[in-house]
Amino acid sequence: MAESALDTAIKQFHEAADRAALDASQREILIAFKTVFETEFPVEMDDGTFQVFRGYRVHHNNARGPVKGGVRFSAEVSLDEVKALAMWMTWKCAVVGIPFGGAKGGVIVDPSKLSQNELQNLTRRYTAEITPIIGPDKDIPAPDMGTNAQTMAWMMDTYSMGHGFTIPGVVTGKPVAVGGSEGRYEATGRGLLFILEEHLREAGGVRGKRIAVQGFGNVGGVAARLMHRAGAIVQYICDKDTGIYRAEGVDCDSAFAFIESGGLLKDWTGEGERIPPADVLTADVDVLVPAAIEHSLTAENAPLVKAPLILEGANGPTTPEADAIFLERGIPVIPDVLANAGGVTVSYFEWVQARQYLHWSEEQVNEELRRIMVTAYRAIQQRVASNPGTTMRQAAQWIGVERVTEATTLRGIYP
Ligand code: NAD
Repeated sequence: MAESALDTAIKQFHEAADRAALDASQREILIAFKTVFETEFPVEMDDGTFQVFRGYRVHHNNARGPVKGGVRFSAEVSLDEVKALAMWMTWKCAVVGIPFGGAKGGVIVDPSKLSQNELQNLTRRYTAEITPIIGPDKDIPAPDMGTNAQTMAWMMDTYSMGHGFTIPGVVTGKPVAVGGSEGRYEATGRGLLFILEEHLREAGGVRGKRIAVQGFGNVGGVAARLMHRAGAIVQYICDKDTGIYRAEGVDCDSAFAFIESGGLLKDWTGEGERIPPADVLTADVDVLVPAAIEHSLTAENAPLVKAPLILEGANGPTTPEADAIFLERGIPVIPDVLANAGGVTVSYFEWVQARQYLHWSEEQVNEELRRIMVTAYRAIQQRVASNPGTTMRQAAQWIGVERVTEATTLRGIYP
């Protein structure tokens, strides 16, 4: 059976635990999931019938603060996947030094098959189900695959109705009009750009670099657009069904505007050759950005990857086998827990603003985002430099696990 995302997350944890010299009981504590919530709930469909959906919300570890993590609407959601994503969130928050633990949620549903009204009914009922375990001091959901700012507005409203007053700090990634942060929508993509700029600082920067991006949603689409605007040549883009190649660079402004207005890449009429989406991963470019799903890069396609640098936009896009192949081939991988941490970082800013009823300017948000991302990047590079042979992923996970262990030790185990 193929390795699950949870298998990958646990394998990576033990490697980091070896480096951090954790004993058996520390490992047992850090690998445990604080809360695993599963629910089946009915939703009224447009034709008056009811359909039952299954949803999850998982809290991994809250030693460093309230737990935080996205909500995924996808037909492929499973409990193991949600657990893996929750664990990665714990290390990610620690790597960028924001005071949160890790969580994740998901509903098994293909959102493209539901009307807006049905999606609203599903979101509100799922929120009602998880209300006992979320809250601005407990667990703060955010968007992930298949969910967006509108989903967060419904979640915030549902939670608030149950409490009798508006509680903007319960979710992040909301529209700006209802307490969202400037810059949150672009934050994950912008964080990817900041990390790439820092990594390529001595190699001439991002300008003129040829890029391939897998996934054209909130992460991949925004990253491609910002990289394109920063002077990179985004030669390859794709979504689930359509790949596009253009040697001079795809017009990412136009393509992403089309997606934002509700279109699909297959219907976009801009210039470029239509190719199978999987070809994007093995494109001859300077940087490959997998920004779609877990386990895109595997033992099968890793030997065929031509890019000399991988920047992980998605969570867990590289299997451990593919990681080993990239290490052997000398292809550096800038890992998810660093590269895509811009989203949770600006989510943290949104939470801070919500709790203080303040509104930061976009300049302030982006400035602070850059500072946090660059600080985290440098800490990881320092760890790599002082431990030759360590990859950026190993260094990042090591730092994350170390910081969560420190918090756990300082707090002690109650009673
Ligand atoms: P999204 O739903 O907005 O977009 C996903 C994109 O990936 C779509 O274009 C979809 O068509 C494409 N896709 C799906 N399966 C594919 C496949 N097999 N091949 C090619 N393309 C495929 O989701 P998103 O929010 O952009 O999230 C993408 C990834 O980034 C996920 O792993 C998510 O956990 C991670 N992530 C998201 C955020 C965030 O702020 N949204 C933050 C950090 C990490």
